[in-house]
Amino acid sequence: MSINDSPRASDSILSRLRQVRTRIERAAVLCGRAPEGIELLAVSKTKPSADIRAAIEAGQLAFGENYVQEAVDKIRQLPVPGIEWHFIGRIQGNKTRAIAEHFDWVHSLADAAHARRLNDQRPPESPPLQVCIQVNVDGEASKEGCDLPGARELMALLIQLPRLRLRGLMAIPAPTPDPEAQRRAFALVREWRNRLATPECPLETLSMGMSDDLEAAIAEGATLVRIGSAIFGPRG
Ligand SMILES: *Cc1c(COP(=O)(O)O)cnc(C)c1O
Repeated sequence: MSINDSPRASDSILSRLRQVRTRIERAAVLCGRAPEGIELLAVSKTKPSADIRAAIEAGQLAFGENYVQEAVDKIRQLPVPGIEWHFIGRIQGNKTRAIAEHFDWVHSLADAAHARRLNDQRPPESPPLQVCIQVNVDGEASKEGCDLPGARELMALLIQLPRLRLRGLMAIPAPTPDPEAQRRAFALVREWRNRLATPECPLETLSMGMSDDLEAAIAEGATLVRIGSAIFGPRG
């Protein structure tokens, strides 16, 4: 095979995006949900902006990033109207300003001090920052995210912060190959949402499901799946 026969990276991103969209549609239809009710977030961490551009050309508009400086560099290189940037990584107190200035969404909020800083640092000319509370449904097995009382407390603060808009919950359950165990963890996120939701704050977004467990997440009510390697290939 000569170099000219090798598929261009952009072609494989296009075909993998199509495969992921098909998986989302099938999973939705299987459980009687409308596929349009499930948003695809393309997780582009560690991948170059050329890969993101290929995904944009394939019609993808929402991108998730984990590392602030890497993300800000790519956001500056891709001033494309209509693109949404979602911060999904671990928040560090000294990075909240860059997050507040450059992102549209934050999924990984689990700390009151971070919430206050993001609120204070959100530029006045930008719309409110859309946020999800990250919840930890694995108990002792994970340190990331709020437990149920912690989520309730953070929610009470968030509804008082005018520059943040609480949209729902995000979870990264411990990975497991067992589809039943995957579903149990995602079902717990949905149950927590149902217990926390109020008429003023319905927590309509359930950000859950990644490349290896998106079907289980959709079966349990995910409204947004965060997909990296199934679109952009394995990370180095
Ligand atoms: C990396 C990452 C993803 C995507 O994971 P894949 O298994 O590559 O799909 C989703 N969510 C978060 C929070 C991540 O850090």
